[in-house]
Amino acid sequence: MSAVLLTDKLPYCPGCTHHHVTRQTAKALEKLGYTPFDVVLVTDIGCHGIADAVFATHTVHGLHGRSTALGCGIAMGLPPGKKVIVFIGDGGATIGLQHILEAARMNIPLTVVVHNNFLYGMTGGQPSGLTPPDFKTVIAPEGTHLPHHNLCELVHQAGAAFAARVVGLGDFSSTLAEAFAQDGFSLVEVLEMCTSYTPKFNPDFKLREVAQAAGYALGSWKNEPRPAYRPNFQQQRPSLLAQLKRVERQAGATLSGRVGIILAGSAGEGVQYAAESFARAAVAGGLHATKKGSYPVTVGVGFSAAEILLDPEPIRYHGITQPDLVIITSEDGLHWSRPLWSGMTAGQVYLDASLPRPEVRVPVEVRDFRTPHGAKNAALFALAVVARELQLLPAALIARFDPAAQKSQD
Ligand code: SF4
Repeated sequence: MSAVLLTDKLPYCPGCTHHHVTRQTAKALEKLGYTPFDVVLVTDIGCHGIADAVFATHTVHGLHGRSTALGCGIAMGLPPGKKVIVFIGDGGATIGLQHILEAARMNIPLTVVVHNNFLYGMTGGQPSGLTPPDFKTVIAPEGTHLPHHNLCELVHQAGAAFAARVVGLGDFSSTLAEAFAQDGFSLVEVLEMCTSYTPKFNPDFKLREVAQAAGYALGSWKNEPRPAYRPNFQQQRPSLLAQLKRVERQAGATLSGRVGIILAGSAGEGVQYAAESFARAAVAGGLHATKKGSYPVTVGVGFSAAEILLDPEPIRYHGITQPDLVIITSEDGLHWSRPLWSGMTAGQVYLDASLPRPEVRVPVEVRDFRTPHGAKNAALFALAVVARELQLLPAALIARFDPAAQKSQD
């Protein structure tokens, strides 16, 4: 038995070409001297995906059509010498076509093995984007009469180091081995037969003949060698740190515990910018802070809200179930935040003076946020006012975003 496989008994239907692809993959890996510990096999939805149970390698199972994207993430985090192999069906390859093309374009070091049996086997035999025009399926009994994608050509044009198409008969392990040995993106499309659905609608099916009639050229496609996309995280770290250092730290912000703030206003009134400026000032003062935005798809109208968390300790969960402070700067914000303030049993509401006072069980502080520096600065000003009154941040940090302070500097 192959050292790469856990069993000789494969789980596919009798006669399915998937048996052959699994065995040829194992053979190719052994040819190249890979141990199961060196290999990550990424699969997704489809009959090919049950290969997870038989490979002794690391295995990851993803959503339909997404195995290439998952494989890319894994490949980018692995050092040279490890191998990522993506198994995908023709249905998944069609769904995840953009992932495959981007992986080829970026030359991400992995191999995609496409199990192209011209149909979605697991879901009942429907056609995919790789189904030949005259191939009959359950929902297209006369054929789709649509041209199929030419996957090998597409990835070749996108920059793949190596692409090959084989018929899933005989020994094609050397083609797989050539693909696996590439230091860059490679793809092998294996033309297959689904023994459960193909003969039902195509009783005279002959794989080579159908492939030829459909213009499925066999062979390989190669591009000039170019560096594989393998981010060097060691080199990137300093620049990430350098980015963080842009927030110059100042001592002095003291909080005894976590404070959850909801800032609720209107689109176009700088709510997100205000919340971010406030959170950055808090971080500069040595606190931990998170900021999340919330607004409708119509970004330019309606409410705009932000959740801000300040904490002297690292923030492991950035949700706010019960806000400590709700700061409302406009009518849109008042309506949007109703479920929040109506349920408050502790904390405080800060309300712009132009708004009707809500029925709440917590203290409501009314301030004029909108007039002193205009509606566009209402959110910034509101945060500055509240931060100063409640001494959430030292004055020097509040001055970083307070429009009143900015104005006095002008
Ligand atoms: S349904 Fe078709 S593709 Fe799936 S295992 Fe059976 S023969 Fe193979």
